[in-house]
Amino acid sequence: MGNIKKILVANRGEIAIRIFRACTELEIPTVGIYSAEDRGSFHRYKADESYLVGEGKKPIDAYLDMEGIIAIAKRCGADAVHPGYGFLAENEEFARRLKEEGILFIGPTAEHLDMFGDKVKAREQAIKAGIPVIPGTDGPVSSLEEVRSFGEEHGYPIIIKAALGGGGRGMRIVNGADEVGEAYERAKSEAKSAFGSDEVYVEKYVSKPKHIEVQILGDTYGNVVHLYERDCSIQRRHQKVVEIAPSISLDEDLRSEICNAAVTLMKNVSYVNAGTVEFLVADGKFYFIEVNPRIQVEHTITEMVTGIDIVHAQIHIANGGNLHEGLSPIPAQKDIPLFGYAIQSRVTTEDPLNDFMPDTGKLMVYRSGGGFGVRLDAGNGFQGAVITPYYDSLLVKVSTWGMTFREAAAKMDRNLQEFRIRGIKTNIPFLENVVCHENFLTGNYDTSFIDSTPELFE
Ligand code: ADP
Repeated sequence: MGNIKKILVANRGEIAIRIFRACTELEIPTVGIYSAEDRGSFHRYKADESYLVGEGKKPIDAYLDMEGIIAIAKRCGADAVHPGYGFLAENEEFARRLKEEGILFIGPTAEHLDMFGDKVKAREQAIKAGIPVIPGTDGPVSSLEEVRSFGEEHGYPIIIKAALGGGGRGMRIVNGADEVGEAYERAKSEAKSAFGSDEVYVEKYVSKPKHIEVQILGDTYGNVVHLYERDCSIQRRHQKVVEIAPSISLDEDLRSEICNAAVTLMKNVSYVNAGTVEFLVADGKFYFIEVNPRIQVEHTITEMVTGIDIVHAQIHIANGGNLHEGLSPIPAQKDIPLFGYAIQSRVTTEDPLNDFMPDTGKLMVYRSGGGFGVRLDAGNGFQGAVITPYYDSLLVKVSTWGMTFREAAAKMDRNLQEFRIRGIKTNIPFLENVVCHENFLTGNYDTSFIDSTPELFE
């Protein structure tokens, strides 16, 4: 087993702080990086030492400055880098460069990033592992005719997806043959500008599915376990808003089939570190959609229902540890606990009454909720913090736990009500409407819930 001496976190905001906390618990010193725009950001002060990165670059590009980050790591003796989510987390070149420099990348191998960064390749792996996929094209499509003939064969609606897409972007739903021409051209040009490749493929559009994903941990000894599932069906524009662990609408057979399928896939590719296998579930059937080879925003709720610290596990695994050993050893699969229910709400600095326009400026007042069964993961959640327009608008993740789902929801509602935020608009009123809605509380929802429930916006 290795012996990590210092960890640089190549990220910002709440996830950087989340990782610093885990490092401190493991008695590993931390290094932060910050862009010029983030000089007042809280994550800068939560690291043991912090350095300006990407001077002269654009705000986002600063955190993508691979060579700048590597230079900082070398200068301050960091022998491992945790990439968090977003930015360089799924960048295989970054993983390779770190390896060349003898620095550990706390995540899967560059090969896994390559395999799962491309949805077409990921789909091929799922098929190879015998896991059900949504009817789709065998590979990328190269002509309008191919898209049309897929639509004719399988019926509309269909969805055109960017092979390298992510974050709910790079997808176009096509309702009929007459829409194919424009949708195909647009999907390709959007994919090119957002992800640097115009490769797209086509899937049947699954009507009213639930989004169910399985948390996986794998180590270098071939151990792969799942930490059960999360239900992330509450989405806006294909992006998650509220997540639940475990799902309240899967029967035991389907749950174990889905979790086992995820383990089979990840064992098949000898997956290492934390990852998530995502599925759509409709009419009692499940279909693979993609793998996210990194820690996810919503990992918090899995931690609350299993008691397993996923970031501790990531560091331990990267250090060459066996996942069943170490400070937080993970029990054998059959003994992994699942206790109660947890819900996460993503509180953002967006105005729900104005089409979720991001708001910026100073937080004049910031008071959060708290109490039993509550977990808060905030970036710049403090009075006087300046919210800039440069980065994503996540302000604080509020996660609550209860013995029953209703109890977790009641705690969420009470917590959201306790927040006092002045000076910046947030989506809290909208989130309150979601977690109090009868269809949410009874599991009577699918990925179209937000779009088809206008009263949430009142
Ligand atoms: P991303 O990588 O951008 O998150 P995903 O492939 O994970 O993209 O899909 C995100 C969401 O888009 C899903 O949770 C689902 O709501 C919707 N979606 C994706 N593919 C399909 C499909 N074939 N049918 C219906 N909805 C889909």
